[in-house]
Amino acid sequence: MDYILKFLSGGFLQLSWWQVALVTLVITHITIAAVTIFLHRSQAHRGLDLHPAVMHFFRFWLWLTTGMVTKEWVAIHRKHHAKCEREGDPHSPVMFGIGKVFFRGAELYREEANNVETLNRYGTGTPDDWLERNLYTRHSLLGVLIMLVLDLSLFGVLGLTVWAVQMAWIPFWAAGVVNGLGHFIGYRNYACPDASTNVSPWGIIIGGEELHNNHHAYGTSAKFSTKWYEFDIGWGYISVLRFFGLATVKKLAPKLKLEPAAASVSLRTLQGVITHRYEILARYTDLVKKAAGEELALSTLVQMRRELVRLWESSSASSEQLLSDLQAWCLRAQQSGIEGLEQFAYRLRRYAA
Ligand SMILES: [Zn+2]
Ligand SMILES: [Zn+2]
Repeated sequence: MDYILKFLSGGFLQLSWWQVALVTLVITHITIAAVTIFLHRSQAHRGLDLHPAVMHFFRFWLWLTTGMVTKEWVAIHRKHHAKCEREGDPHSPVMFGIGKVFFRGAELYREEANNVETLNRYGTGTPDDWLERNLYTRHSLLGVLIMLVLDLSLFGVLGLTVWAVQMAWIPFWAAGVVNGLGHFIGYRNYACPDASTNVSPWGIIIGGEELHNNHHAYGTSAKFSTKWYEFDIGWGYISVLRFFGLATVKKLAPKLKLEPAAASVSLRTLQGVITHRYEILARYTDLVKKAAGEELALSTLVQMRRELVRLWESSSASSEQLLSDLQAWCLRAQQSGIEGLEQFAYRLRRYAA
């Protein structure tokens, strides 16, 4: 009798509450790592390839702790990038309102997971082996049920709480915080054409996904931090895997290298400007903010922003044409009489591809 009571209260491990809390933090963090490294950076964006053993571990772990199906996750996420903040974006706070995405993000996810067209169009290239078809996809909920039994037998009744926390972890942090707040509050390094933000410069709790604006600017990069003061723990894990030959990095964001200002604006400058367009636009936005009070300067700045954007938005112009447009733009900026704009044009001449 005593033994049964003891087992019910503490399970096999008989841990104290704080030890259970610690273990819960570790296992939910492994789930976060699986989502950001395997589902997001590797499967959805192909920023890195993983060793088959690592891949199998992540697939098994996600099945056990989340019940999410790789193809569904990847398809929904790719669609988010393709339609960002427009009709068809599965979870845009701009379209649905922040309240809905933050509190009901998991529902939006499940709704979209039932959309066969989304899965067919955006879910290509995900694992399709025997294990996937017959276990992970067919019995996607079996894993979390096994997890429940495991939690109860390891931790006793407290295991129920552990399990509930595990089940809520991804819906809260990924569907709510990243998809909601990551398009709502925080800072922007890059003025890419969506509302994405970096929620915090230190990406630890959500495995680096906090740096969501950086990610939208350079979607296929395996590394999410881009400034010296930013930290991406997911990239830390990838570096460790890489060291042991368990991961191959395929893509990284282009490095920003500023050269001494060129005497003339060349094709190299044009390439550099186009490559780093979102960084340049973010700086330009700061410039516009500073000129807020001066009406004349402001109208010039707004007009010149439109012309700058045309450099990478016009798909038909030849590179000679674009180059002469950029040269003309810089000249006008230097002669504009607006101090900030003159400095901006000077800096523009330092970009190189
Ligand atoms: Zn996003
Ligand atoms: Zn993404």
